[in-house]
Amino acid sequence: MEYLYGLLFGTEPDTTDVDARHALHAKLDALPDRDAQIALTADELRLLKAEMRGTPLKRQHGGGDELFVRMRSDLEEDHDAKTADAVVDAYGASPLKPNPLAKRRPSPDLLQLRKAVQDAGPLHDLISERQLSSSVPKERRRTLETALSAVGEWGFDVWAVVDAFQGDTLLAARAVVDAVVFEARGFRAGSTSHLLRQVVAKMLASYQDVPYHNCLHGADVLQAMHALLNLSPSFDDALDDDVVLVTLLACLSHDVGHPGLTNNFLVETGHKLAIRYNDASPLENMHAAVALNLAKPYLRTRPPEEQKGARALWIGLLLATDMKEHSHQIYELERSLAKAKERGTKYDACAPAHHVPCLKLFIHACDVSNPAKPWAVYRRWTSLVMEEFWRQADLERERGLPLTVPGRGATDLAKFQLGFISFVRPLFAAADRIAGVEMGLPLRRIDATARRW
Ligand code: AMP
Ligand code: ZN
Repeated sequence: MEYLYGLLFGTEPDTTDVDARHALHAKLDALPDRDAQIALTADELRLLKAEMRGTPLKRQHGGGDELFVRMRSDLEEDHDAKTADAVVDAYGASPLKPNPLAKRRPSPDLLQLRKAVQDAGPLHDLISERQLSSSVPKERRRTLETALSAVGEWGFDVWAVVDAFQGDTLLAARAVVDAVVFEARGFRAGSTSHLLRQVVAKMLASYQDVPYHNCLHGADVLQAMHALLNLSPSFDDALDDDVVLVTLLACLSHDVGHPGLTNNFLVETGHKLAIRYNDASPLENMHAAVALNLAKPYLRTRPPEEQKGARALWIGLLLATDMKEHSHQIYELERSLAKAKERGTKYDACAPAHHVPCLKLFIHACDVSNPAKPWAVYRRWTSLVMEEFWRQADLERERGLPLTVPGRGATDLAKFQLGFISFVRPLFAAADRIAGVEMGLPLRRIDATARRW
């Protein structure tokens, strides 16, 4: 069976009655507090459920968004998710088998390094750059240093870092995050930097060992964001430091606890995450709840107003990584670009009101950016993402469910990848038209990747 990207992640068609939706929104706006949903009829609840699934209803109206966020935060519990084990306790372990592609026997020096990291305390306190390099065998140290020196570039080769650590993705991810957050961006001054290091370490440790959505993907999206901001210096300069830090941490944590299964699978199988979040972006809601819980010790050190802003930004960025938002994000951007053109101006990322919408586009672009990377980097990610799909398809077969992702041996990889590329390209192309945003290099790479298939 062929799988097209529009089918895999496309938005549901909006079949609801526009008048009924407007009436529902008027009602929601008039309701003062959190008991709002009790006052709704069955039809209205059905509409609300559709809204929370991400249909246009939610987006057309501020009231719906507010309620959505309020309900989401009501559902959030204080899971003490310090490590992957705690995430697993709260939400269940991935049924996928551990990833053999990432499993290599670590050398004694790496085992020693891991032990040093563990001995530093339950929070796996982040080790310093110097300790890190001195624990890597000499011959690989040079490779590591060369690879990390390009951490600010779009063409950065994350796999060179993984190879230097002999396939140890946790140590590689840590080296990348350290190089971006503490070295290149310099978020290390002040009395709270140890808390920030602990939060980073806990986030990495809270990823599950699945083929694609593991801690390396979190670190990779963080690096991509850093590089994308470097490509658009005026936008980067317009952002406050605390916004950049939250954005980088949101990237790092955007798939935390991911079980390697799609939202669709979780909903169809009645997984506890789908039950918890009423089928509405269960993965992204879980990532946000876990991430913000992990970030609490650091956020609490910030002034109350900043905490509130950071929390809202973080949640908004994580929910923007739901693939169901893809077409809507492009549509909204096209509208903003057209409106600005009508006024004889340009939609400018540097205008304060546009910071958050543009960061949402950026995080989503980074999340789907592997075809925009050098071919060899992209191919390794592709093997892993396909392996994860195949494992879900194996589970679906075992359970007698219809396949919702490509199955092992049943997919024309070139066709599927070209489908994915044509699905993501318009996002980069539209973003390239924003004043202050430069997507020329990612776009050229996407085209080069397409030509190679
Ligand atoms: P996320 O699950 O947040 O990482 O969302 C990004 C989605 O993009 C992933 O779930 C994958 O389904 C998809 N994706 C990323 N890279 C590829 C790729 N090379 N081929 C197919 N799908 C991809
Ligand atoms: Zn992701």
